[in-house]
Amino acid sequence: MACGVRAGRALARRLRDVRAVLFDRDDTLIRDVPRYNGDPTLVQPIPGAAEAVGRLRAAGLPTGVVSNQSGIGRGFVSHMQVQRVNARVDALVGPFDTWQYCPHAPADACTCRKPAPGLVVRAARALGVEPHHTVLIGDIGTDVRAARAAGAVGILVPSPRTLPAEVREAPLVARSLGDAVDLVLAGLAGAGVATAVAAPAARTARP
Ligand SMILES: [Mg+2]
Ligand SMILES: [Zn+2]
Repeated sequence: MACGVRAGRALARRLRDVRAVLFDRDDTLIRDVPRYNGDPTLVQPIPGAAEAVGRLRAAGLPTGVVSNQSGIGRGFVSHMQVQRVNARVDALVGPFDTWQYCPHAPADACTCRKPAPGLVVRAARALGVEPHHTVLIGDIGTDVRAARAAGAVGILVPSPRTLPAEVREAPLVARSLGDAVDLVLAGLAGAGVATAVAAPAARTARP
């Protein structure tokens, strides 16, 4: 499949009612750092991220970040380190109106680690909107599934870590954060929803 086209009246309707936009952090707003980044000086925004988030703010849409930080639960980084990194992201790409992160390891079986809906629900509550009036933009299937579980609209912006199956399963796919924001703003304005994305290089497993 060279190109996937997703369109739908139901999705268009959902986007017309969007009241807030949430983002995944790693490989969506900033480049992921191997082995759990605890160092704010290593924060590198994805090109165009600040501009894309700024356009949402200019349109009056609250924004937030929902991020799995299992490095805390696994003992690689502290809450303080993650919060310092988040503050750096806020300074370079934000400011965001709410930050929600899950500190748990997968073995903790918490209700906040994406693909569970907890972070999205918490962010929506913090922003004073219903979860089904939010969009979650992220780079892997876990983000899309968390959005679905919370009743939010998921938009996938593939990164080098995204698997082809995750692209196929996503209700909406955008080439870049800028394109994802275009989609949200066009949806709010009542335009139809259609988006295409080049399939990422074939991968069978996440590195
Ligand atoms: Mg990510
Ligand atoms: Zn959790």
